Amino acid sequence: MKSIRLREGKDRSLLRRHPWVFEGSIQKGKADPGETVRVESSTGEFLCWASFSPESKIRARAWTFDEKERIDEAFFKRRIDAAVALRARMPITSNAIRLIHGEADGLPGLIVDRYDDLLSAQFLSAGAERWKQTIADLLLAATGLTRLYERSDANVRPLEGLAPVTGWLRGEGGTEVVIAENGWKLSVDVAEGHKTGYYLDQSDNRKKFAEVVRHYGCQSVLNCFSYTGGFSVAALAGGATEVISVDSSGPALARATAHVALNGYDAAHHTALDADVNHTLRDMLKQGRRFDAIVLDPPKFAPTAAHADRASRAYKDINRLGLMLLKPGGLLFTFSCSGGIGPELFHKIVAGAGMDAGVDGLILDRVGATPDHPQTLYFPEGEYLKGLLILKR
Ligand code: SAH
Repeated sequence: MKSIRLREGKDRSLLRRHPWVFEGSIQKGKADPGETVRVESSTGEFLCWASFSPESKIRARAWTFDEKERIDEAFFKRRIDAAVALRARMPITSNAIRLIHGEADGLPGLIVDRYDDLLSAQFLSAGAERWKQTIADLLLAATGLTRLYERSDANVRPLEGLAPVTGWLRGEGGTEVVIAENGWKLSVDVAEGHKTGYYLDQSDNRKKFAEVVRHYGCQSVLNCFSYTGGFSVAALAGGATEVISVDSSGPALARATAHVALNGYDAAHHTALDADVNHTLRDMLKQGRRFDAIVLDPPKFAPTAAHADRASRAYKDINRLGLMLLKPGGLLFTFSCSGGIGPELFHKIVAGAGMDAGVDGLILDRVGATPDHPQTLYFPEGEYLKGLLILKR
Protein backbone atom coordinates (compact mmCIF):
# COMPACT_ATOMS: atom_id res chain seq x y z
CA MET A 1 0.00 0.00 0.00
CA LYS A 2 1.37 3.40 -1.00
CA SER A 3 1.69 6.19 1.55
CA ILE A 4 1.38 9.94 1.28
CA ARG A 5 3.33 11.89 3.87
CA LEU A 6 2.02 15.37 4.74
CA ARG A 7 4.08 18.41 5.65
CA GLU A 8 4.28 19.40 9.26
CA GLY A 9 1.06 21.00 10.52
CA LYS A 10 -0.86 19.97 7.41
CA ASP A 11 -2.62 17.17 9.28
CA ARG A 12 -4.91 19.62 11.07
CA SER A 13 -7.82 19.67 8.68
CA LEU A 14 -7.86 15.88 8.32
CA LEU A 15 -7.84 15.56 12.11
CA ARG A 16 -10.98 17.68 12.01
CA ARG A 17 -12.41 15.22 9.48
CA HIS A 18 -12.25 17.55 6.52
CA PRO A 19 -11.91 15.02 3.67
CA TRP A 20 -9.58 16.85 1.25
CA VAL A 21 -5.79 16.89 0.97
CA PHE A 22 -4.47 19.75 -1.14
CA GLU A 23 -1.45 19.48 -3.40
CA GLY A 24 0.61 21.89 -1.28
CA SER A 25 0.14 19.85 1.90
CA ILE A 26 2.02 16.84 0.61
CA GLN A 27 5.64 16.33 1.52
CA LYS A 28 6.16 13.14 -0.45
CA GLY A 29 4.48 10.16 -2.02
CA LYS A 30 2.50 9.50 -5.16
CA ALA A 31 0.20 6.91 -6.67
CA ASP A 32 -1.88 6.15 -9.75
CA PRO A 33 -5.17 7.95 -10.46
CA GLY A 34 -7.80 6.77 -7.98
CA GLU A 35 -5.46 4.42 -6.18
CA THR A 36 -6.07 4.04 -2.45
CA VAL A 37 -3.28 5.54 -0.36
CA ARG A 38 -2.50 5.73 3.34
CA VAL A 39 -2.29 9.40 4.28
CA GLU A 40 -0.01 10.03 7.23
CA SER A 41 1.21 12.99 9.24
CA SER A 42 4.76 14.36 9.01
CA THR A 43 5.65 11.98 11.83
CA GLY A 44 4.03 8.94 10.22
CA GLU A 45 0.72 8.70 12.14
CA PHE A 46 -2.25 7.36 10.21
CA LEU A 47 -4.75 10.06 9.17
CA CYS A 48 -7.01 8.45 6.59
CA TRP A 49 -7.34 6.09 3.64
CA ALA A 50 -7.81 8.23 0.57
CA SER A 51 -8.05 8.09 -3.20
CA PHE A 52 -5.12 9.72 -4.95
CA SER A 53 -5.64 12.15 -7.81
CA PRO A 54 -2.30 13.02 -9.43
CA GLU A 55 -3.59 15.88 -11.60
CA SER A 56 -5.96 17.61 -9.21
CA LYS A 57 -5.24 20.41 -6.75
CA ILE A 58 -7.34 18.30 -4.41
CA ARG A 59 -4.65 15.64 -4.51
CA ALA A 60 -6.37 13.10 -2.28
CA ARG A 61 -9.89 12.61 -0.90
CA ALA A 62 -10.53 10.63 2.24
CA TRP A 63 -12.60 7.47 1.95
CA THR A 64 -12.36 6.72 5.68
CA PHE A 65 -10.70 7.94 8.87
CA ASP A 66 -10.82 4.42 10.33
CA GLU A 67 -7.47 2.70 9.95
CA LYS A 68 -9.04 -0.75 10.18
CA GLU A 69 -11.45 -0.20 7.30
CA ARG A 70 -10.43 -1.67 3.90
CA ILE A 71 -11.34 0.12 0.68
CA ASP A 72 -12.91 -2.72 -1.25
CA GLU A 73 -16.28 -3.73 -2.67
CA ALA A 74 -17.67 -4.30 0.82
CA PHE A 75 -16.70 -0.74 1.78
CA PHE A 76 -18.64 0.72 -1.16
CA LYS A 77 -21.58 -1.56 -0.41
CA ARG A 78 -21.72 -0.27 3.18
CA ARG A 79 -21.59 3.35 2.09
CA ILE A 80 -24.12 3.00 -0.73
CA ASP A 81 -26.55 0.93 1.35
CA ALA A 82 -26.32 3.45 4.19
CA ALA A 83 -26.98 6.39 1.87
CA VAL A 84 -29.99 4.68 0.28
CA ALA A 85 -31.35 3.61 3.68
CA LEU A 86 -31.03 7.17 4.98
CA ARG A 87 -33.02 8.53 2.03
CA ALA A 88 -35.77 6.01 2.78
CA ARG A 89 -36.09 7.57 6.28
CA MET A 90 -36.24 11.14 5.01
CA PRO A 91 -39.61 12.85 4.67
CA ILE A 92 -39.45 12.95 0.88
CA THR A 93 -42.43 11.77 -1.10
CA SER A 94 -41.17 12.49 -4.59
CA ASN A 95 -40.03 9.70 -6.91
CA ALA A 96 -36.96 11.80 -7.64
CA ILE A 97 -34.29 11.99 -4.97
CA ARG A 98 -30.56 12.45 -4.53
CA LEU A 99 -29.28 9.08 -3.32
CA ILE A 100 -25.57 9.83 -3.07
CA HIS A 101 -24.32 13.33 -2.28
CA GLY A 102 -20.55 13.00 -2.50
CA GLU A 103 -18.60 13.83 0.64
CA ALA A 104 -21.74 13.93 2.81
CA ASP A 105 -22.35 10.25 2.09
CA GLY A 106 -18.68 9.36 2.54
CA LEU A 107 -18.21 8.96 -1.21
CA PRO A 108 -16.24 11.99 -2.46
CA GLY A 109 -16.70 12.66 -6.14
CA LEU A 110 -19.86 10.58 -6.54
CA ILE A 111 -23.28 12.06 -7.25
CA VAL A 112 -26.29 9.84 -7.89
CA ASP A 113 -29.85 10.99 -8.47
CA ARG A 114 -32.85 8.74 -8.86
CA TYR A 115 -35.51 9.85 -11.33
CA ASP A 116 -38.40 7.44 -11.02
CA ASP A 117 -37.05 4.11 -12.30
CA LEU A 118 -33.70 5.31 -13.53
CA LEU A 119 -30.48 6.44 -11.95
CA SER A 120 -28.29 9.25 -13.22
CA ALA A 121 -24.73 9.48 -11.90
CA GLN A 122 -21.69 11.72 -12.04
CA PHE A 123 -18.22 10.30 -11.34
CA LEU A 124 -16.24 13.43 -10.59
CA SER A 125 -13.01 12.29 -8.94
CA ALA A 126 -10.26 9.89 -9.91
CA GLY A 127 -11.27 7.68 -6.98
CA ALA A 128 -14.94 7.47 -7.98
CA GLU A 129 -13.84 6.82 -11.57
CA ARG A 130 -11.58 3.95 -10.56
CA TRP A 131 -14.38 2.19 -8.68
CA LYS A 132 -17.06 2.99 -11.27
CA GLN A 133 -18.00 -0.54 -12.31
CA THR A 134 -18.24 -1.78 -8.72
CA ILE A 135 -20.27 1.27 -7.73
CA ALA A 136 -22.62 0.82 -10.71
CA ASP A 137 -23.46 -2.77 -9.75
CA LEU A 138 -23.90 -1.87 -6.09
CA LEU A 139 -26.23 1.04 -6.93
CA LEU A 140 -28.52 -1.23 -8.92
CA ALA A 141 -28.46 -3.87 -6.19
CA ALA A 142 -29.27 -1.29 -3.48
CA THR A 143 -32.20 0.21 -5.38
CA GLY A 144 -33.54 -2.83 -7.24
CA LEU A 145 -33.39 -0.83 -10.48
CA THR A 146 -31.85 -1.88 -13.79
CA ARG A 147 -30.88 1.33 -15.55
CA LEU A 148 -28.06 3.74 -14.78
CA TYR A 149 -27.11 6.65 -17.00
CA GLU A 150 -23.72 8.30 -16.65
CA ARG A 151 -23.42 12.11 -16.81
CA SER A 152 -19.72 12.52 -16.14
CA ASP A 153 -19.56 15.66 -18.27
CA ALA A 154 -19.32 18.22 -15.45
CA ASN A 155 -16.63 20.85 -15.81
CA VAL A 156 -14.74 19.60 -12.75
CA ARG A 157 -13.79 16.34 -14.54
CA PRO A 158 -10.89 17.90 -16.47
CA LEU A 159 -9.49 19.21 -13.16
CA GLU A 160 -9.15 15.56 -12.17
CA GLY A 161 -7.50 14.71 -15.48
CA LEU A 162 -10.61 12.85 -16.60
CA ALA A 163 -12.27 13.09 -20.01
CA PRO A 164 -16.05 13.62 -20.20
CA VAL A 165 -18.14 10.46 -20.44
CA THR A 166 -21.89 10.18 -21.02
CA GLY A 167 -24.17 7.30 -21.85
CA TRP A 168 -25.76 4.20 -20.38
CA LEU A 169 -23.55 2.55 -17.80
CA ARG A 170 -26.13 -0.17 -17.11
CA GLY A 171 -29.29 -0.89 -19.11
CA GLU A 172 -30.54 1.05 -22.11
CA GLY A 173 -33.63 2.72 -23.59
CA GLY A 174 -35.34 6.10 -23.44
CA THR A 175 -33.67 8.77 -21.32
CA GLU A 176 -36.78 10.77 -20.47
CA VAL A 177 -38.89 10.20 -17.38
CA VAL A 178 -41.71 12.09 -15.71
CA ILE A 179 -41.13 12.74 -12.04
CA ALA A 180 -43.65 13.79 -9.43
CA GLU A 181 -42.37 16.71 -7.39
CA ASN A 182 -44.65 18.25 -4.77
CA GLY A 183 -47.58 16.82 -6.72
CA TRP A 184 -46.45 18.36 -10.01
CA LYS A 185 -45.45 16.38 -13.09
CA LEU A 186 -42.07 17.36 -14.48
CA SER A 187 -40.26 15.69 -17.33
CA VAL A 188 -36.54 15.08 -17.01
CA ASP A 189 -34.20 13.91 -19.72
CA VAL A 190 -31.11 12.49 -18.07
CA ALA A 191 -29.15 12.66 -21.33
CA GLU A 192 -30.06 16.24 -22.31
CA GLY A 193 -30.72 18.00 -18.99
CA HIS A 194 -28.23 19.98 -16.93
CA LYS A 195 -26.11 18.07 -14.39
CA THR A 196 -27.85 14.72 -13.84
CA GLY A 197 -31.02 16.07 -15.48
CA TYR A 198 -32.73 18.35 -12.97
CA TYR A 199 -32.05 20.54 -9.92
CA LEU A 200 -33.46 18.39 -7.14
CA ASP A 201 -31.83 20.52 -4.43
CA GLN A 202 -34.50 23.21 -4.91
CA SER A 203 -37.43 20.85 -4.51
CA ASP A 204 -38.49 22.04 -1.03
CA ASN A 205 -37.94 25.66 -2.00
CA ARG A 206 -40.25 25.29 -4.99
CA LYS A 207 -42.88 23.90 -2.63
CA LYS A 208 -42.31 26.81 -0.26
CA PHE A 209 -42.61 29.23 -3.15
CA ALA A 210 -46.01 27.83 -4.17
CA GLU A 211 -47.14 28.35 -0.57
CA VAL A 212 -45.95 31.95 -0.28
CA VAL A 213 -47.34 32.87 -3.71
CA ARG A 214 -50.70 31.65 -2.44
CA HIS A 215 -50.50 33.19 1.05
CA TYR A 216 -49.30 36.58 -0.12
CA GLY A 217 -51.65 36.59 -3.10
CA CYS A 218 -48.96 37.07 -5.77
CA GLN A 219 -50.36 37.33 -9.29
CA SER A 220 -47.40 38.42 -11.42
CA VAL A 221 -44.21 36.35 -11.04
CA LEU A 222 -40.85 36.70 -12.76
CA ASN A 223 -38.83 33.47 -12.62
CA CYS A 224 -35.22 34.29 -13.55
CA PHE A 225 -32.83 31.49 -14.51
CA SER A 226 -35.92 29.31 -14.76
CA TYR A 227 -34.32 26.25 -16.39
CA THR A 228 -37.28 23.90 -17.10
CA GLY A 229 -39.70 26.06 -15.12
CA GLY A 230 -39.87 24.33 -11.75
CA PHE A 231 -40.48 27.61 -9.88
CA SER A 232 -42.91 28.70 -12.62
CA VAL A 233 -45.05 25.62 -12.13
CA ALA A 234 -44.87 26.30 -8.40
CA ALA A 235 -46.07 29.88 -8.97
CA LEU A 236 -48.99 28.66 -11.10
CA ALA A 237 -49.80 26.08 -8.43
CA GLY A 238 -49.87 28.94 -5.92
CA GLY A 239 -52.44 30.80 -8.04
CA ALA A 240 -50.27 33.22 -10.04
CA THR A 241 -51.84 34.27 -13.31
CA GLU A 242 -48.95 36.01 -15.05
CA VAL A 243 -45.72 34.03 -14.88
CA ILE A 244 -42.63 34.75 -16.94
CA SER A 245 -39.79 32.18 -17.17
CA VAL A 246 -36.48 33.69 -18.29
CA ASP A 247 -33.55 31.51 -19.32
CA SER A 248 -30.86 31.53 -21.99
CA SER A 249 -31.43 27.87 -22.82
CA GLY A 250 -34.02 27.28 -25.54
CA PRO A 251 -34.49 23.55 -24.84
CA ALA A 252 -34.98 24.24 -21.11
CA LEU A 253 -37.66 26.83 -21.92
CA ALA A 254 -39.42 24.46 -24.33
CA ARG A 255 -39.66 22.04 -21.45
CA ALA A 256 -40.93 24.81 -19.14
CA THR A 257 -43.74 25.52 -21.63
CA ALA A 258 -44.52 21.80 -21.83
CA HIS A 259 -44.63 21.60 -18.02
CA VAL A 260 -47.34 24.26 -17.85
CA ALA A 261 -49.55 22.14 -20.13
CA LEU A 262 -48.57 18.86 -18.48
CA ASN A 263 -49.86 20.18 -15.15
CA GLY A 264 -53.10 21.49 -16.61
CA TYR A 265 -52.37 25.21 -16.23
CA ASP A 266 -53.61 27.80 -18.69
CA ALA A 267 -50.93 28.50 -21.32
CA ALA A 268 -52.07 32.14 -21.33
CA HIS A 269 -50.76 32.46 -17.76
CA HIS A 270 -47.18 31.68 -18.75
CA THR A 271 -44.55 33.24 -21.02
CA ALA A 272 -41.19 31.68 -21.83
CA LEU A 273 -38.54 34.28 -22.55
CA ASP A 274 -35.30 33.11 -24.19
CA ALA A 275 -33.00 35.90 -23.04
CA ASP A 276 -30.13 36.97 -20.86
CA VAL A 277 -31.43 37.73 -17.37
CA ASN A 278 -29.09 40.72 -16.93
CA HIS A 279 -30.52 42.42 -20.00
CA THR A 280 -34.08 41.39 -19.27
CA LEU A 281 -34.05 42.88 -15.77
CA ARG A 282 -32.74 46.19 -17.13
CA ASP A 283 -35.25 46.25 -20.00
CA MET A 284 -38.15 45.52 -17.70
CA LEU A 285 -37.08 48.25 -15.32
CA LYS A 286 -36.96 50.75 -18.19
CA GLN A 287 -40.39 49.62 -19.37
CA GLY A 288 -41.79 50.20 -15.88
CA ARG A 289 -42.75 46.55 -15.37
CA ARG A 290 -43.33 45.52 -11.76
CA PHE A 291 -43.95 42.10 -10.17
CA ASP A 292 -45.52 40.61 -7.07
CA ALA A 293 -42.78 37.99 -6.77
CA ILE A 294 -39.38 37.38 -8.34
CA VAL A 295 -37.15 34.30 -8.22
CA LEU A 296 -33.41 34.68 -8.79
CA ASP A 297 -31.72 31.28 -9.03
CA PRO A 298 -28.57 31.91 -11.06
CA PRO A 299 -25.87 29.40 -11.94
CA LYS A 300 -22.79 29.19 -9.77
CA PHE A 301 -21.07 32.58 -10.12
CA ALA A 302 -18.28 31.62 -7.68
CA PRO A 303 -17.15 27.99 -7.88
CA THR A 304 -14.50 28.69 -5.21
CA ALA A 305 -13.72 31.47 -2.73
CA ALA A 306 -11.14 32.80 -5.21
CA HIS A 307 -13.98 33.97 -7.46
CA ALA A 308 -15.92 35.54 -4.60
CA ASP A 309 -15.20 39.19 -5.44
CA ARG A 310 -16.40 39.20 -9.01
CA ALA A 311 -19.27 36.91 -8.14
CA SER A 312 -20.35 39.22 -5.31
CA ARG A 313 -20.71 42.08 -7.76
CA ALA A 314 -22.75 39.90 -10.13
CA TYR A 315 -25.06 38.75 -7.31
CA LYS A 316 -25.43 42.28 -6.03
CA ASP A 317 -26.36 43.57 -9.46
CA ILE A 318 -29.17 41.11 -10.16
CA ASN A 319 -30.51 41.43 -6.62
CA ARG A 320 -30.53 45.22 -6.84
CA LEU A 321 -32.49 45.03 -10.11
CA GLY A 322 -34.77 42.35 -8.70
CA LEU A 323 -35.63 44.45 -5.65
CA MET A 324 -36.31 47.49 -7.83
CA LEU A 325 -38.64 45.46 -10.05
CA LEU A 326 -40.81 44.35 -7.13
CA LYS A 327 -44.01 46.10 -6.17
CA PRO A 328 -44.12 47.27 -2.54
CA GLY A 329 -45.11 44.22 -0.50
CA GLY A 330 -43.64 41.94 -3.17
CA LEU A 331 -41.42 38.95 -2.53
CA LEU A 332 -37.90 38.17 -3.69
CA PHE A 333 -36.77 34.55 -3.44
CA THR A 334 -33.06 34.83 -4.09
CA PHE A 335 -30.41 32.11 -4.18
CA SER A 336 -26.71 31.45 -4.48
CA CYS A 337 -25.37 27.97 -5.18
CA SER A 338 -21.75 29.12 -5.05
CA GLY A 339 -19.62 27.17 -2.59
CA GLY A 340 -17.32 30.21 -2.47
CA ILE A 341 -20.05 32.49 -1.06
CA GLY A 342 -21.09 31.64 2.48
CA PRO A 343 -24.52 32.45 3.97
CA GLU A 344 -23.23 35.53 5.81
CA LEU A 345 -21.56 36.96 2.74
CA PHE A 346 -24.68 36.27 0.69
CA HIS A 347 -26.79 38.13 3.25
CA LYS A 348 -24.32 41.04 3.10
CA ILE A 349 -24.45 41.11 -0.71
CA VAL A 350 -28.25 41.18 -0.76
CA ALA A 351 -28.25 43.87 1.96
CA GLY A 352 -25.90 45.93 -0.22
CA ALA A 353 -28.23 45.40 -3.15
CA GLY A 354 -31.13 46.65 -1.04
CA MET A 355 -29.16 49.77 -0.04
CA ASP A 356 -28.29 50.52 -3.67
CA ALA A 357 -31.89 49.95 -4.73
CA GLY A 358 -33.04 52.28 -1.96
CA VAL A 359 -35.51 49.74 -0.61
CA ASP A 360 -36.19 48.31 2.81
CA GLY A 361 -36.69 44.59 3.14
CA LEU A 362 -37.66 41.98 5.68
CA ILE A 363 -36.11 38.51 5.68
CA LEU A 364 -39.09 36.17 5.94
CA ASP A 365 -37.11 32.95 5.57
CA ARG A 366 -33.61 31.53 5.12
CA VAL A 367 -33.41 28.29 3.21
CA GLY A 368 -30.94 25.69 2.02
CA ALA A 369 -30.94 22.55 -0.05
CA THR A 370 -33.53 19.79 0.33
CA PRO A 371 -32.39 17.23 2.99
CA ASP A 372 -31.38 14.57 0.47
CA HIS A 373 -28.44 16.93 -0.24
CA PRO A 374 -27.06 16.89 3.30
CA GLN A 375 -23.76 18.26 4.53
CA THR A 376 -21.50 16.86 7.22
CA LEU A 377 -20.49 18.86 10.25
CA TYR A 378 -16.90 18.88 9.08
CA PHE A 379 -17.07 19.91 5.45
CA PRO A 380 -18.10 23.58 5.07
CA GLU A 381 -17.83 23.36 1.27
CA GLY A 382 -20.87 21.10 1.46
CA GLU A 383 -23.05 24.11 2.27
CA TYR A 384 -23.40 25.48 -1.22
CA LEU A 385 -27.06 26.42 -1.68
CA LYS A 386 -28.52 29.23 0.36
CA GLY A 387 -31.58 31.33 -0.24
CA LEU A 388 -33.34 34.31 1.30
CA LEU A 389 -37.03 35.07 1.05
CA ILE A 390 -37.34 38.82 1.26
CA LEU A 391 -40.37 41.03 1.48
CA LYS A 392 -40.00 44.52 0.03
CA ARG A 393 -41.58 47.13 2.27
N1 SAH B 1 -34.29 27.53 -11.02
C1 SAH B 1 -33.99 26.35 -11.80
C2 SAH B 1 -32.51 26.03 -11.87
C3 SAH B 1 -31.66 27.15 -12.42
S1 SAH B 1 -30.10 26.64 -12.97
C4 SAH B 1 -34.81 25.19 -11.29
O1 SAH B 1 -35.54 25.36 -10.30
O2 SAH B 1 -34.75 24.09 -11.86
C5 SAH B 1 -29.50 28.07 -13.76
C6 SAH B 1 -30.11 28.38 -15.13
O3 SAH B 1 -29.61 29.64 -15.53
C7 SAH B 1 -29.77 27.42 -16.26
O4 SAH B 1 -30.97 26.91 -16.78
C8 SAH B 1 -29.05 28.27 -17.30
O5 SAH B 1 -29.44 27.94 -18.64
C9 SAH B 1 -29.50 29.66 -16.95
N2 SAH B 1 -28.62 30.79 -17.27
C10 SAH B 1 -27.30 30.91 -17.03
N3 SAH B 1 -26.86 32.14 -17.33
C11 SAH B 1 -27.94 32.85 -17.77
C12 SAH B 1 -28.15 34.19 -18.20
N4 SAH B 1 -27.15 35.07 -18.22
N5 SAH B 1 -29.38 34.56 -18.56
C13 SAH B 1 -30.40 33.66 -18.53
N6 SAH B 1 -30.28 32.40 -18.10
C14 SAH B 1 -29.06 31.99 -17.73
